[in-house]
Amino acid sequence: MKASILLIYTGGTIGMKNNPETGALSPFDFNGIYDEFPSLRKLDVDIEVLSFDPIDSSNVTPELWVKLARIIRDRYDSFDGFVVLHGTDTMAYTASALSFMIENLGKPVVFTGSQIPIGVLRTDGRENLITAVEIAGAKQDGRAVVPEVCIYFQNRLFRANRTTKHSAEQLNAFRSDNYPALAEVGVNIHYNAPFIHRPEDRPDPLCISTHLETGIEIVKIFPGMRPATLESMLAVPDIRGIVLETYGSGNAPTADRFVRCIGDALSRGLLVVNVTQCPGGSVSMNLYETGKCLQRAGVVSGRDITTEAAVTKMMYLLGQNRDPEWTREMMGVSIRGEMTL
Ligand code: ASP
Repeated sequence: MKASILLIYTGGTIGMKNNPETGALSPFDFNGIYDEFPSLRKLDVDIEVLSFDPIDSSNVTPELWVKLARIIRDRYDSFDGFVVLHGTDTMAYTASALSFMIENLGKPVVFTGSQIPIGVLRTDGRENLITAVEIAGAKQDGRAVVPEVCIYFQNRLFRANRTTKHSAEQLNAFRSDNYPALAEVGVNIHYNAPFIHRPEDRPDPLCISTHLETGIEIVKIFPGMRPATLESMLAVPDIRGIVLETYGSGNAPTADRFVRCIGDALSRGLLVVNVTQCPGGSVSMNLYETGKCLQRAGVVSGRDITTEAAVTKMMYLLGQNRDPEWTREMMGVSIRGEMTL
């Protein structure tokens, strides 16, 4: 039996095509997907298209994430997999957010997009789209091969909450420095089975969280940062969580004013998580005195989490409005495969 795929188009470069009348780039109507990509008919899939009013993903908001999560929940039983077409700029945030918002996922949700518009001859969008559809429909022994929220881009499939957009130029725009690719695509698709999450045989029903806390800041420290700058960032009213981007393995200045400022934020009940500014590797706060200081103050180690995953995980966890101890504990452990323990 053919796999059924719901293709959700949200916008981004992938959907742009030259308007024959004006010559300008304008959004492509994905309802004509089979005419544009006749090769899709050769895949063993049936595709239904759902188009949003296309946006540049720089304008994405958590409301769109909630809309996506609701669609996936509401249509979950009718489809074998979901493909989300999204601009590349914030794809890692949206896909990470969805990975946290959806619980007990047993079907693929594959995000993709492109660096070159689909209407341009040299587009990378055609291959990205066709392979994303194939992966979303892939089954073995009647079960989805990749029952995860993931990003497919330029021959590689990644766990969504491990990705970062690393290039505005190269066609392989995404990286997952701290977790292996879930699949490598060449002549064949090679799935990296040991690294793909397998849901339980009798999973609980899928459910979604739609309340996301946006009172969050990313604070990236740098040599020469004025203490007053940090103090005013942490004093913003209604902030509930800070993603602190530190150096190397989680190190930050040990100057009194810096440490006091972080300590004050923690004693006001803020959740502070330490992530590294390095693209690869992990926070390990007990290596140097400069990291230990943060650990002693009560900062949570984000280990090897990406900033995109840390921000969206924090939005999700604080949105649960559970007690602070639970939130702190969950922030420090892997809940959707987003960090290595
Ligand atoms: N600015 C575009 C977006 O993120 C870029 C892209 O799609 O690649 O929507």
